[in-house]
Amino acid sequence: MTDTILVVDKLKKYFPTKRGTVKAVDNISFSVATGETMGLVGESGSGKTTTAQCVVGIYPPTDGEIRFKGQAVSKVFGKRPKSLKQEIRIVFQDPGSSLNPKRSIKQILSVPLKVHRVATKKDNLTKIKSLLEMVELPPEYMYKYPRAIGGGEKQMVAIARALATNPSLVLLDEPTSALDVSVQGKIINLLMKLQQDLNLTYLFITHDLSLMRNVASRVAIMYLGKLCEIAPTVEFFQNPTHPYTKMLLSAIPVVSQEEKALKPTKIASRGEIPSPVNVPPGCSFHSRCPEKMDMCAQDDPVMVEIGEGHVTRCHLFAEAKTTAPIA
Ligand code: SF4
Repeated sequence: MTDTILVVDKLKKYFPTKRGTVKAVDNISFSVATGETMGLVGESGSGKTTTAQCVVGIYPPTDGEIRFKGQAVSKVFGKRPKSLKQEIRIVFQDPGSSLNPKRSIKQILSVPLKVHRVATKKDNLTKIKSLLEMVELPPEYMYKYPRAIGGGEKQMVAIARALATNPSLVLLDEPTSALDVSVQGKIINLLMKLQQDLNLTYLFITHDLSLMRNVASRVAIMYLGKLCEIAPTVEFFQNPTHPYTKMLLSAIPVVSQEEKALKPTKIASRGEIPSPVNVPPGCSFHSRCPEKMDMCAQDDPVMVEIGEGHVTRCHLFAEAKTTAPIA
């Protein structure tokens, strides 16, 4: 049986604003197995980044629980033990703004080594060299400053910084979307190699569904703070069920006849994503859904299990009736 490293259970994160409450994350549940890559996919404003920020401890949840290796961590916000901060690390989208421009790569990588006491003063340099080697950068890069290296190289340094504490779970928040297409593949290949070598677990936040086909073991779709569908990757692409999933899949480019055969018929994107301070009642997708029924504007569907590890939240599958376990 595969171990579960992370459980997100009925997580809510609300932000009060002058215009009303933004329900950035609204009652979502999912789990991540040790060693897997779980893709958390959604459009901008879907709540995927806020979810990652709650998991890593940047925001305290409004409600719900986050369990890491069986330990409830959401209740210790602000007082997370160092060991926990060491185990859960994050790589941000924009390496340009996540690296301090006034510090050399050596100084940047020394911070986690010192704070988490991973290396003594004596072996600091050796550890920095090995971190750079791990991300395929030459040792002399330690004397460079972020402004002197390219975007892909900056992201390699950000990955090395995240790995400096020997984490077991790494949250990848759109790690390639700010990079040139020419280096995106290199970063993805590096991340996959590091996962193998170091037995890492990834929660991969992205808006790029096609990327998930190649890197994720499971895919979860978010829309307006809620989860719509979770499935193992092969099942997800072969048998998508939620109308929003189908809409997203129908919009991605395909490169092979096999993919073309699987791709849902083009579903025109209807309407705009509603404001997160004014989420429609009932199913939050009903104002854009091509399959909406009368009940959809009143009743919010619940997540039901429709296959092994495959859950969906849509009234079209109400006959499944079983409230889904945490997938
Ligand atoms: Fe569409 Fe209704 Fe399903 Fe929502 S519940 S996705 S509106 S069919």
